[in-house]
Amino acid sequence: MRALRLHGPLDLRMHDEPVPTYASDEVLIRIKSVGICASDLHYYREGRIGSTVVTSPIVLGHEASGVIESVGADVTNLKPGDRVALEPAKPCLKCEWCQKGHYNVCPGIPFFGTPPVDGCLRDYVAWPARLCLKVPESLTFDEIAMLEPLAIGVYACDLAEPNPGDVVAILGAGGIGLSVLQAVRTVGVERIIVSEPIEARRLSALKLGATHVTTPTTAEQDVANFTNGRGADIVIECTGEDDAVRQTARLTRVLGKILIVGIPSSDTYPFDASDARRKQLTAIFVRRSNMTTERAAELVAQGKMNAAALATHRFPLEKTAEALDLAFSKRDGVIRAIVEVSE
Ligand SMILES: [Zn+2]
Ligand SMILES: [Zn+2]
Repeated sequence: MRALRLHGPLDLRMHDEPVPTYASDEVLIRIKSVGICASDLHYYREGRIGSTVVTSPIVLGHEASGVIESVGADVTNLKPGDRVALEPAKPCLKCEWCQKGHYNVCPGIPFFGTPPVDGCLRDYVAWPARLCLKVPESLTFDEIAMLEPLAIGVYACDLAEPNPGDVVAILGAGGIGLSVLQAVRTVGVERIIVSEPIEARRLSALKLGATHVTTPTTAEQDVANFTNGRGADIVIECTGEDDAVRQTARLTRVLGKILIVGIPSSDTYPFDASDARRKQLTAIFVRRSNMTTERAAELVAQGKMNAAALATHRFPLEKTAEALDLAFSKRDGVIRAIVEVSE
């Protein structure tokens, strides 16, 4: 089978490898669509995310859909032909945090496309059956792949606990920002302001339910106008850019809440202490998602979240480098470039 491996920054090579073997509680999945995420871009361009470094050739990709090819002897909940979303993280189920249901913060949790665990830019993947979610027939494979960022949106919204009357500001309208926006809409928040420098993405935000859009340079004035000078109740940072992180505390009201979802290149988050302190803000650092994929799938099937709007461009596996370049450039209205591994 084909497996696309990253050997170092900007160095992708196609390999011919044996189809993976699988344990009795695992299934073999034929991969269909894989979304290119900002975290893939960090590994592709920089060879690392913070302290996690690519030291041996790795398969990237964790926003994946597929079809069950075959199942292990002990698997009863899935059968060949089932269409599935793949939970990219494999919690240990034994540690204190897993036992309390906080699977996403299981220390050292294996995750697709994060060293040393291979991801999904290959024809077949073996994965525990418990981490494969059978999805409604109405979803396309691109939509199923987009359940991963949408699940992060749903989880961030859970942590934010917005009230319907709140003003929520979202920084960034890429795949994650637009997922957060949609999730916040599903819980009845009606006043949402989205800050995004790229016009096409601002238009996407308006289409997906933003009340108002602004840019990083006008955000402070616009949020002040929008809230009569009070500031947003909740600010959700989805860019990983230093300037946006710094801006969060200036946009938030007294005793407000900041959620940090974006991943920075530098492995630091810069805040101005005075704003954060004088307003006594609460900051929550969001770690991926926690068992929210199924809810995301239901919301998409019910028409309450739009997964198709995120999947804007498609490339075959051989052209993954082009998909990564497009995602990095943010050109041509791209939200998620999708690699179609098989048809
Ligand atoms: Zn991702
Ligand atoms: Zn654990």
